[in-house]
Amino acid sequence: MSDKVAMEKIVSLCKRRGFVFPSSEIYGGLASCWDYGPMGVELKRNIKDAWWKAMVQERNDVIGIDTSIMMHPGVWKASGHIDNFTDPLVECKSCHLRWRADEIASDKPRTCTKCGGELTEPRMFNLMFKTFMGPVEEEASTIYLRPETAQGMFVNFENATTTSRKRLPLGIAQIGKSFRNEITPGNFIFRTREFEHMELEYFVKPGTDEAWFDYWVKERFNWYLKLGIAKENLRLRQHGKDELAHYAKDCYDIECLFPMGWSELEGIANRSDYDLTQHAKHSGKDLRYYDAESGERYVPYVIEPSAGVDRSLLAFLIDAYHEEMVEEETRVVLRLHPSLAPMKVAVLPLSRNEKLTPLAKEVYRQLCPNFMTCYDDSQSIGRRYRRQDEIGTPFCVTIDFQSLEDNQVTIRERDSLAQIRVPIKELEQTLQAKLKGERFDATALWATRQKSQ
Ligand code: ATP
Repeated sequence: MSDKVAMEKIVSLCKRRGFVFPSSEIYGGLASCWDYGPMGVELKRNIKDAWWKAMVQERNDVIGIDTSIMMHPGVWKASGHIDNFTDPLVECKSCHLRWRADEIASDKPRTCTKCGGELTEPRMFNLMFKTFMGPVEEEASTIYLRPETAQGMFVNFENATTTSRKRLPLGIAQIGKSFRNEITPGNFIFRTREFEHMELEYFVKPGTDEAWFDYWVKERFNWYLKLGIAKENLRLRQHGKDELAHYAKDCYDIECLFPMGWSELEGIANRSDYDLTQHAKHSGKDLRYYDAESGERYVPYVIEPSAGVDRSLLAFLIDAYHEEMVEEETRVVLRLHPSLAPMKVAVLPLSRNEKLTPLAKEVYRQLCPNFMTCYDDSQSIGRRYRRQDEIGTPFCVTIDFQSLEDNQVTIRERDSLAQIRVPIKELEQTLQAKLKGERFDATALWATRQKSQ
């Protein structure tokens, strides 16, 4: 289970199998920056697609948007980020190491853990990255890289509601990069300074906000369950009153059991009418919504489920990682939900033999328009199966000498290790059915994991 998987194993698998590499590695890397390799990019896309499908495609009450990373500086003044988006920073007076003051245990002497030096008093440090727009580096041209995508939805509230001709309750969803100059990034891709957000701003009539808040907490929790994360590795935690952000009326974190312990995976906040009220005040635009049914005008309340793509990816990897004994060897297998698996099918000729290659390539060509498919004919078939297990490929299709005679191939299943023989002309249909099939609902996935413990 995930609480037994050391982060080093995940980092090593990610490097070995092309999920995640240190950024600028040939220059020694750049602290807390990571690049997604060929498998990582597919997994990331699949996570974003699953989110978009559940949050936009399958709902008539949510529309999508894609706003710019650089926004008018007035946005950040109105949102409170310029004044409040800060963490308390302390620094060692002798070795200059820095920490978030709130991460240092209050019952310990406040000295540097590295050199024992004296620490400075905490000072507030703004987490937004600053840069300059245009050729002149002066105060007036200062702009910020967005620390969240949410403000793009608030400032487009009017555009989005009028052009979509939809009534409240209405959500605006966005996936995109955010930047935070975190004081202490770390734990691999858990906390980085550049990451991707998946955020929904769901606008509702005041008074209905608490019911919608409960709805979204449940909805988001179930999203992770449906994608296979084991129930015992997820929990909800309500924020205490002293912990709530300045705009929030209520907030729950969905927490996941990461190798370093229970930590936030996603936050769901009731942001009240704070954001639209602030933007109306600072922009001078009336952002009230006209409710045609009741004839009222009001500032909507906003429920915000805010998730991180990179942190979800880490959670899915940790949860999927399993080691088990097969034929007296340790098999590392990623039991990823098939919709998330980077590759759905691997086509593997039994050996690199001139008689087998043409048929194997033909099978590959048939499958790749419909599934992310890889072709591998190097090394022994056993080692190739292990490689596919490590990247979580649900199905391997093996072409052997018998295939040349009977036009049948073997499908080997990642989880059960069962092998079935099917005619090549039925292969695509069989794989489609298996990928969509019942056996891959989360309950079945958990059952196979349990058996393999
Ligand atoms: P934390 O308390 O971990 O700093 P937060 O409460 O500030 O996070 P939110 O602003 O609620 O985070 O962002 C929502 C989600 O975005 C988080 O649950 C997480 O998945 C992701 N996220 C936030 N900051 C980072 C980061 N620095 N690196 C990676 N993902 C992040």
